[in-house]
Amino acid sequence: DAVIRCEGLAMTYAEGTLRTPVFAGLDLVVRPGETVAIVGASGAGKSTLLHLLGGLDTPTDGEVYVAGQKMSDLSDADRGRLRNRALGFVYQFHHLLPEFTALENVMLPVLLNGTSVADAAGRARALLEAVGLGHRLEHKPGELSGGERQRAAVARALVNRPACVLGDEPTGNLDEKTASTVFELMLALNREHRTSLVLVTHDRSLARRLDRVLELHDGRLRPLA
Ligand code: ADP
Ligand code: ADP
Repeated sequence: DAVIRCEGLAMTYAEGTLRTPVFAGLDLVVRPGETVAIVGASGAGKSTLLHLLGGLDTPTDGEVYVAGQKMSDLSDADRGRLRNRALGFVYQFHHLLPEFTALENVMLPVLLNGTSVADAAGRARALLEAVGLGHRLEHKPGELSGGERQRAAVARALVNRPACVLGDEPTGNLDEKTASTVFELMLALNREHRTSLVLVTHDRSLARRLDRVLELHDGRLRPLA
């Protein structure tokens, strides 16, 4: 009943004759509702790991299962559909589409599932209200503050009610107070909907709020006391 499971995961980047081994034989199981922090030095491979867990990149060896599905068994289109349905992504920079309003940005993942515009708008509006942006529905990203943009990005990551949210420094670009607001929001959504969280963060005090803290070091994940 894991939302994400990987076994014997290995990744080596190869460019010409240059080979960069990042890890070999890495295992991880994320249970429903569980929150996991991934910490580690710059260059340890944290972003690489999240990309592999999210099916955005293909491991050199080993397997990733998302919601019980073996990623390598799926076509690119099916993997994209599974990613959109089962996972949410939040990055350090919001990656909202600049030409679209907050509401439209959050509606998009729902529309990609083939949901009607009315239903998508209803869900997107409810979630934007939940993250405190009910008064910003028609604002474009350029008209929102940094914290508002990140809250809109969290709403977008959650709108398809994913089993798991993968966050790569989701609060890394925010001041301390705003970072804490966005972080609390993600924890609240975890509590209410049992959404699992796997968050890469440099912030040890935020990391300690999660169920498990794992350090990626020398290509291995080890629990941090
Ligand atoms: P972290 O997120 O922990 O800072 P990364 O996963 O970004 O680490 O990078 C891990 C290692 O892999 C680093 O040595 C980095 O230089 C290398 N790396 C990351 N992406 C690529 C890539 N696309 N091509 C080649 N090497 C890469
Ligand atoms: P913060 O204090 O969080 O940095 P700002 O001072 O950037 O926020 O913005 C304050 C409020 O004004 C925000 O709620 C934002 O939505 C709104 N706002 C900022 N820029 C624009 C704009 N160009 N058009 C419309 N509303 C804006």
